[in-house]
Amino acid sequence: MFKQSAQHLDTYYAACYPGAIPQRRPLQEDLECDVLIVGGGFSGLHTALRLSLAGKKVVVLEASRLAWAASGRNGGQALPGWSCDMPPFEQALGLSGARSLWDSMVWAAEELSQLPGRHGFDIDYRKGALYNAVLPRRVTQLQESIVEAEQKYGYHQLKFIAKAELPEWIASPRYLAGVYDAGAAHINPLKLAMGLADAIEKAGGKIFELSKALTSHPTRNGYQVLTANGEIQCDVLVLACNAYIDKLDPQLAKRLLPVGSYQVATAPLDPALAQSLFPKGTCAIDNQFVPDYFRVTPDNRLLFGGGCTYLGGIPTDVPAATRPYLERVFPQLKGVQIDYGWGGHIDCTMPRTPDLGQLGHKYWLQGFSGHGILPTLAAARAISDAILGDNELLSLYQGLSNPRFPGGDLLAAPIEAVGKAWYRLRDVI
Ligand SMILES: Cc1cc2nc3c(=O)[nH]c(=O)nc-3n(C[C@H](O)[C@H](O)[C@H](O)COP(=O)(O)OP(=O)(O)OC[C@H]3O[C@@H](n4cnc5c(N)ncnc54)[C@H](O)[C@@H]3O)c2cc1C
Repeated sequence: MFKQSAQHLDTYYAACYPGAIPQRRPLQEDLECDVLIVGGGFSGLHTALRLSLAGKKVVVLEASRLAWAASGRNGGQALPGWSCDMPPFEQALGLSGARSLWDSMVWAAEELSQLPGRHGFDIDYRKGALYNAVLPRRVTQLQESIVEAEQKYGYHQLKFIAKAELPEWIASPRYLAGVYDAGAAHINPLKLAMGLADAIEKAGGKIFELSKALTSHPTRNGYQVLTANGEIQCDVLVLACNAYIDKLDPQLAKRLLPVGSYQVATAPLDPALAQSLFPKGTCAIDNQFVPDYFRVTPDNRLLFGGGCTYLGGIPTDVPAATRPYLERVFPQLKGVQIDYGWGGHIDCTMPRTPDLGQLGHKYWLQGFSGHGILPTLAAARAISDAILGDNELLSLYQGLSNPRFPGGDLLAAPIEAVGKAWYRLRDVI
């Protein structure tokens, strides 16, 4: 499923970006470099920055605009952890392997808080997230998650919030309990992508937008990649294409199912009302299989997401599709004006585990399964370390198994949708 556009979607982030969104020129020449990165989302940009800073000659190719896809359209919730949670890591790698990956996730959370200051950009960084339970049995899960995080992973940033204390954190009647994660944050993702791009260029990297990698061929010492108006010879190729990898690498594409996901931004709320929704300024997500996630932006809008479609489509009227869920969480916002509604694609693997790897001179990072702000940064560290000669983290990811989706191009999505319907049912019974 390849998609492309010369313009950012009309998201809240693009519409409210301070000034014109910077644009890089397309590739119109032949080039040689050490590392060519295909994909200008967080996966590609974080990898490019780390390698540029390490002295590699890096080029980034983006088919559309930087952060045009998931990285510029997401909920901005930087939550430590992966979409699959820890059990698949423990099963595949044992506790010590899972612990090493978790430690790299904690590193990513810390790194995200420091990157803007280190490179002189702003991402509207706000600390803290609240994980809420809707069902009684999931309150127990929240409590168990704290014990497990502390005992198995040495993570002491979680705090249980009983129902009686919840009004101090969130003005919603929907939840039975919550957990506060002091290691989480929320950010403006488009500003992060633009800041990373500037930092890459300052470190000597080159970035080309509107430059789709059409084909890639292994050569004796690396790869040759063709675009419409230029060719690149590189020692190392990194594929960071997410749900849009498609024909550029059909084997990688078969391990991903592009799932549609969408969200809205309201009109700016009265500042006192906005402040009352989250008295402590956190973001929030519930622990349903298909979660609602939401937060207030610095200009007092409520950003609310959660809808997803396993057949990959996006509702034609995203605000209408989202409003009932928003008003279920915050009845006091009934009838609120919604200014923006947009959708994007998440790159789901079958077990929802990330898919990172290496074959000869080619590396890839994909399969973040809808939870990628911190996981892409942790993954970019694993890939860039490996390219620089330290394979420790990448080899852990390579111990995971991400099979192809059954049913081929036509049947994979319907089969998956039926399977996921069962889990959705468990969100209400
Ligand atoms: C609606 C939505 C809400 C989300 N909310 C959250 C959230 O709150 N928190 C969270 O942690 N995660 C969230 N996510 C997930 C997160 O945004 C992604 O996991 C993350 O951005 C993935 O980054 P990426 O760089 O791998 O992919 P992308 O950002 O999708 O970037 C891939 C890029 O590769 C380019 N590309 C593809 N093929 C080619 C080619 N042949 N040549 C050149 N370029 C190519 C594409 O144009 C694209 O720009 C959300 C995702 C969506 C869609």
